Amino acid sequence: MKPSLEDTLRAAIRTIPDYPKPGILFRDITTLLGDAGAFRRAVDELVHPHAGNKVDKIAGIEARGFILGGAIAHQLSAGFIPIRKKGKLPHKTVRIAYSLEYGLDEMEIHSDAVTPGEEVILVDDLIATGGTAEGAVKLLRQMGAEIVSACFVIDLPDLGGRAKLEALGVDVRTLIAFEGD
Ligand code: AMP
Repeated sequence: MKPSLEDTLRAAIRTIPDYPKPGILFRDITTLLGDAGAFRRAVDELVHPHAGNKVDKIAGIEARGFILGGAIAHQLSAGFIPIRKKGKLPHKTVRIAYSLEYGLDEMEIHSDAVTPGEEVILVDDLIATGGTAEGAVKLLRQMGAEIVSACFVIDLPDLGGRAKLEALGVDVRTLIAFEGD
């Protein structure tokens, strides 16, 4: 019998304690990406609700959101937009500050990456406090994007990110949850 989605993903994600600093359980998806069956299943599950719908672009958050987002964009015949840390994009950009666990950072998008009214799906590997995804949603909306959904392989529900995005009126889809942080 085919293992459940939950079992497949849980077995394929590696947990690294105390990375990048003491007390953090880092959920490493490189093992999932390296497992052809698990990678395909994760992408298929994220694509499935949108199959046959009009989606103009997938916006992926640097860096793991690029890998998942590229695969999803291909499946949905959508374009791909990179959302990057400041200073990495070569053309004119729009920038937003967003909150991290400790302090602030800034992310950017090319100013011509979205045409107002375009239907966009936001993608990252994991949602924790939701600060990163919230910044990305605000940036995309500022450019006139309609956010169809925000999707992530992993949810850390105890950190409240999903609730933060839902409070902004964003449909959130995650495939697997890990308790704690
Ligand atoms: P946040 O803004 O708190 O929702 O953090 C989400 C971003 O940080 C995503 O780009 C994740 O890849 C990364 N991240 C946060 N916490 C973890 C964790 N425990 N394991 C792996 N990545 C994480």
